[in-house]
Amino acid sequence: MKYADFYQRSVVTPEEFWRDEAALIDWNTPFTQVLDYSQPPFARWFVGGRTNLCHNAVDRWCSAQGDKPALIAISTETNTERSYSFNELRAEVQRWAAMMQSLGVRKGDRVLIYMPMIAEAAFAMLACARIGAVHSVVFGGFAANSLASRIEDAKPVLIVSADAGSRNGKAIPYKPLLDEAIALSSSKPARVLLVDRGLAPMSRVEGRDVDYAALRASHLAAQVPVTWLESNEPSYILYTSGTTGKPKGVQRDVGGYAVALAASMKHNFCGKAGETFFATSDIGWVVGHSYIVYGPLIAGMATIMYEGLPISPDPGIWWSIVEKYKVTRMFSAPTAIRVLRKQPPEFMRKHDKSSLKALYLAGEPLDETTSSWIAGELGVPIIDNYWQTETGWPILSIAKGIEDAPTRLGSPGVAMYGYKVKLVNETTGAECAANEKGVVMIEGPLPPGCMQTVYGNDQRFVDTYWTRHGDKMLYSTFDWGVRDADGYYFILGRTDDVINVAGHRLGTREIEESITSHPNVSEVAVVGVEDKVKGQVAVAFAILKDASAATNEQDIMSVVDRQLGAVARPARVYFVTQLPKTRSGKLLRRSIQAICEGRNPGDLTSIEDPSSLRQIEQVLQK
Ligand code: ATP
Ligand code: MG
Repeated sequence: MKYADFYQRSVVTPEEFWRDEAALIDWNTPFTQVLDYSQPPFARWFVGGRTNLCHNAVDRWCSAQGDKPALIAISTETNTERSYSFNELRAEVQRWAAMMQSLGVRKGDRVLIYMPMIAEAAFAMLACARIGAVHSVVFGGFAANSLASRIEDAKPVLIVSADAGSRNGKAIPYKPLLDEAIALSSSKPARVLLVDRGLAPMSRVEGRDVDYAALRASHLAAQVPVTWLESNEPSYILYTSGTTGKPKGVQRDVGGYAVALAASMKHNFCGKAGETFFATSDIGWVVGHSYIVYGPLIAGMATIMYEGLPISPDPGIWWSIVEKYKVTRMFSAPTAIRVLRKQPPEFMRKHDKSSLKALYLAGEPLDETTSSWIAGELGVPIIDNYWQTETGWPILSIAKGIEDAPTRLGSPGVAMYGYKVKLVNETTGAECAANEKGVVMIEGPLPPGCMQTVYGNDQRFVDTYWTRHGDKMLYSTFDWGVRDADGYYFILGRTDDVINVAGHRLGTREIEESITSHPNVSEVAVVGVEDKVKGQVAVAFAILKDASAATNEQDIMSVVDRQLGAVARPARVYFVTQLPKTRSGKLLRRSIQAICEGRNPGDLTSIEDPSSLRQIEQVLQK
């Protein structure tokens, strides 16, 4: 089929289109209305239908392939591998569901999951889905303050946690942070369920804290039937990464999300039941929700949960997993691939990766250098996909399951089915012509699977994301992009990352892309810094592949001169060994910019390694 026809149908007759896609999942009660958009911008999909995410991810597969692997949890931190078949997964999830019920969790209650990448985290998520509790997974690397604000916001009745995570062989205790966060928050959970991995000592609060192993032992034979939920009841809350400011609590539904995941697993990820999917993200992020836990299982695939670094015990670890479990589809982020590019290639080459059919990358712009390098190493298509915590599944990509259309270097692809993507001129509000830069917006209603609202704050949802254009409502992605004549989009950075040099508006991303084409640059961040004469100038911070090579500031500047012209040339290029990033691998340009302008770097709760900011301060002082 031609993708263009498939897409047209999805936007011209969305109700017919999504009615058909809805057949990809099991419904306990059929829906009576495909879409209710009577109160824009709030969209309600599959109204009246009753279904359940856990049923579709787990129970549904037990009769046909109950003995096949469903969840494979691998940790190179603790040197453990645990594999659960669909039947075993169902048994564990029922134990978890029973434990939660015994601790007072009821339908609609929030359960906060603050866990490392261990199988129990997935059991807890699926158990919530099974009984209609709303999970809020908080990335295990967050410190007490970030955790406290999420406890405060979601008011969980139960928190599920563990003694510790582990990073690079070092235990990272969770429990002291959790206790501190609960102390900081005005909302207190009634109970805390703790998985003891034996990594760090843990104190217990009498009457509140419960040990998982002991409680599990009394629920071994638990049978907890699925709670059928109306399609629009909430399934979970997940906060955005906080790259551009205060995180927003994205709330998602049940039916629309299940359908969107089933559709994207088929049309985008070409996942087949019985095969193995490997997403290298973390359950604390949206990729972890959609494509570690729910998506692959809904498609009947085995899914891999990996705890550990991509380069430990050696840089071949991911490819050894691909080899051992015959992974067919892999999902990662450009930042991880850049890390691998800096390693000796032998580690990757020695593994048999012939099972792999495609690598999907998302989360930040995929530069041509990284993309071409990994394509060459793997010999499979590299499929960029652009989306957000808010949307839950790709907005832009190439739907290889519909048509084997070509990808274009530097472009995540075309608008995905269901998304009426528009580029809007920031000043005039008019729709952009081909090759004209604009803000990437989506005309409402958002398709199934996207956020329903900001948790507990409908007004913030409307005010933050939506603007009215005539009789239409437009959702803003806050990203800046351009579309070529064939409908391929190019993301030029975030709307707050545009710089204005002597009246020229430049996306920091364009300059970064140009600089990374230098063979000795592995990574770069470009920010706009206040300048008395030009308004703003671009300043670059680059990481060299080989720091001993004679690459200097001038070399980098001439690359930009040649490719973009002197107007885009950075005023300064500094060399560093590390860049400040969020825990999800996104560049914290706003913090770098603040330091360059002598301001406070702002909210740093999501930063990966604060020492990266000190490096920026140091090079600036030289
Ligand atoms: P916050 O909204 O709190 O500032 P965030 O936007 O970083 O955080 P996410 O939802 O995790 O949180 O990230 C989505 C953003 O990541 C997109 O809006 C876009 O800027 C960027 N992004 C994701 N995928 C791609 C991609 N394939 N190409 C370019 N940019 C991407
Ligand atoms: Mg965002």
